[in-house]
Formats: sequence, structure tokens, C-alpha cells
Amino acid sequence: MELNKTFILEKACDQPTPFYLYRMDLLRATLEACKKAADKYNYKVHYALKANSDPKVLQTIGEFGFGADCVSGQEILTALENGYSASHTAFAGVGKTDDEINIGLDKDIFTFNCESVQEIEVINELAQKKGKVARIALRINPNVNANTHKYITTGLEENKFGINKWEFEKILKTLDACDHIKLTGLHFHIGSQIVDLSAYRSLCLRVNEIQQWFIERRILLEHINVGGGLGIDYYQPDLNPIIDFEGYFAIFNDFLELQPHQELHFELGRALVGTMGELITKVLYIKNGQRTNFAIVDAGMTELIRPALYQAYHKIDNISKSDTVSDVFYDVVGPICESSDCFGKRVKLPLTERGDIVAIRCAGAYGQVMANQYNLRKIPDVVYYEG
Ligand SMILES: *Cc1c(COP(=O)(O)O)cnc(C)c1O
Repeated sequence: MELNKTFILEKACDQPTPFYLYRMDLLRATLEACKKAADKYNYKVHYALKANSDPKVLQTIGEFGFGADCVSGQEILTALENGYSASHTAFAGVGKTDDEINIGLDKDIFTFNCESVQEIEVINELAQKKGKVARIALRINPNVNANTHKYITTGLEENKFGINKWEFEKILKTLDACDHIKLTGLHFHIGSQIVDLSAYRSLCLRVNEIQQWFIERRILLEHINVGGGLGIDYYQPDLNPIIDFEGYFAIFNDFLELQPHQELHFELGRALVGTMGELITKVLYIKNGQRTNFAIVDAGMTELIRPALYQAYHKIDNISKSDTVSDVFYDVVGPICESSDCFGKRVKLPLTERGDIVAIRCAGAYGQVMANQYNLRKIPDVVYYEG
């Protein structure tokens, strides 16, 4: 299931660059591996649509039986249109609008993951108007450090996400007063691109503690949702195209104390779709600077903003050249009028020329979904490789 260079070079001849290439064979293999590992413990995985919401990708993931984790009303509608069932759809987000909440209520989604007292009151009010009872989970801020980039860490007290421990009493009072709310679970999500798996062990221990607080108050929770965030290997995508799902789920089996009949839910985004996507771009110019050489490509931060936004690393391969004898260092940059429009500094590539085709690897997650039209650029097409 290697990167098919011939296919890419052929496509780049009869298709404008840049384009996203989605490797459906790798996607399917990843989904199979995840499903198999989760099924072993009867864990339920919801796919976080925000990572990649291409319809074909969505449908493929849905066909494997994954649920949907949505962070906007539009994502709920998109999930349902693409074959996910409302009873396996969760709705998270720190700022749900009334319209979005109404969508969730009308569609009878599985759960609203609530992040504040006021949000619970608003959902109660809107549910009452419709004569419905909304199922909710409390998104708890566990104060666990995910050891990831500060822009994608979410489970610390300084972050805007979740309900903190000192607010629990108040939440219970609110729930008592809300007849149109049913508490069904607890939700956690500590961050993204987590590669230090000990963070998940810490999360499990915190979840046990927090669960205890609810058990002592005789509050029954049907499910625990530990969120997503499992990272991928951006450095060696060919060596590790599929993440170790077995090791990941085993941590929860080892350290999380579930109550009888309690379900454990996960919300994976990047780990399912990250490595299957490539951003294929063409070298426009080579410019020899004072200190460095620039390879100026026709893709930019408009198609993949992660390096500019989070200083994220993406492996870069020159698909046209296989000779590695004459390696040269390049700053690989896009055409956008921003200095942060740079895919990588001092990237070692074979001697590169105008017209070469370059793959920016692992662009399947948070690539196309964050694309924008700055400089009035077009959103690129998607090419599917079936294998
Ligand atoms: C973004 C997000 C996810 C998915 O994160 P990944 O790092 O892509 O796995 C899951 N749950 C919530 C609540 C999120 O906001």
C-alpha cells in the first residue's frame, strides 16, 4: 500500500495542481484496523467530521459502522446526509447556537456534549418548546496535559473548554431544575496530535476519580466518552501509515474503570484520515537566496494551513526525482503573500527543478477542511486513488 508515484505523476499531467489525493485503500485499511481493535473491547468510535468532511471519505467511514462526532449544526446535517445515524451522532462545541441546538433536537441526536451551566439551561428551554427531552453528556475539563502544541491542547484549566471540578455542585442543581434534560454521560477531550500515550493513562486515572464523585451521589452514567486526539506519525508516514490502535485502546482497557453496562466512546479524527491524504503540488520556481534555496510551489497555506497555524511538520517528497545522491536543502514555500506561507524550512530534497511534482504528506486531516480562498484562490479538487 505504498504511495503510488506513477499514479500521482499521471494525474498531475491531466489535472490542474495543486490537488488533494485521498488514498482510499489506505483509508479502508486504517478503518479496518481501528474497528478490529475497538471491537475487541466493544468500544464505540465516533468519527470527528471536522478532520475531513469530503463526502466520499465520510461515506466510507460511515460504511464501516462508525458514528459521527460533530461540532456544528452543519456537520450534523452533513453526517446524516452521508449515511450516519442520528442515534450515533454526538454534538460537541463550546459555542452552540440556538439554531444548531434546534437541529440536534429535531434530529434526535444521541447526545449534546455540554460545556457550561448556561448551555444546559438553554438546551432545556429549547427542548421544552419542542416537548422533547435532550440527552446530554457533561464535557469535563480534567486538567490533564496532553503534551502537544499549545494551540491544540484543550484539557487544561486555562483552556476555554469543558466544565471544571469546582462547578460540579452547581451543575447538579441546574440538572435538578431542568426537566427536559437527561444526563447520560461524561465527556473528555484533552487535545489533538497526542503521541505521548501516557497522557491517556493520566486521563483514565482522572476519569476514575471524577466518576467516583458521581457514583457517590448515585448518579448513573450510561457512557463515558474519552474524546479523540490520537496522533499520527508525520515524520515517517511510509513506515507507520496506520497508527497502533491496539496499543491505544489497551490503555483504556488497562486503566479506565467502567461501571457495569457502561459504554466507552471515542472520537477519533486525525488518526483515521491523516495519513491517507496527500497535497500534490508543482514546483513553479527555484530561487537561490543568500542563505537558502527556495522551492516555490503552487500550493500554499490556503490549501494546508497547519504549518503556518501550528508550526506543524509535514514530510515533503519530490515525486518526480528518485535520485538521492545530489540532495539539496530547500525552504519549500507557497505563493501566498505571507511569510508564514512555508511548508518546511531546510527540507532535504533531490536537486529540484521547475515542473517537479511534490507531495506534502499526511494532509488528510485538517487540510481541505481548513482551505480558504485568500488571494482569491480556488479550493482545489480531490483525486481518489482506489488502490
Ligand atoms: C477535534 C475534536 C476531536 C477529534 O480530534 P482528533 O485530534 O482529530 O482526533 C474529537 N472530539 C472533540 C470534542 C474535538 O473537538
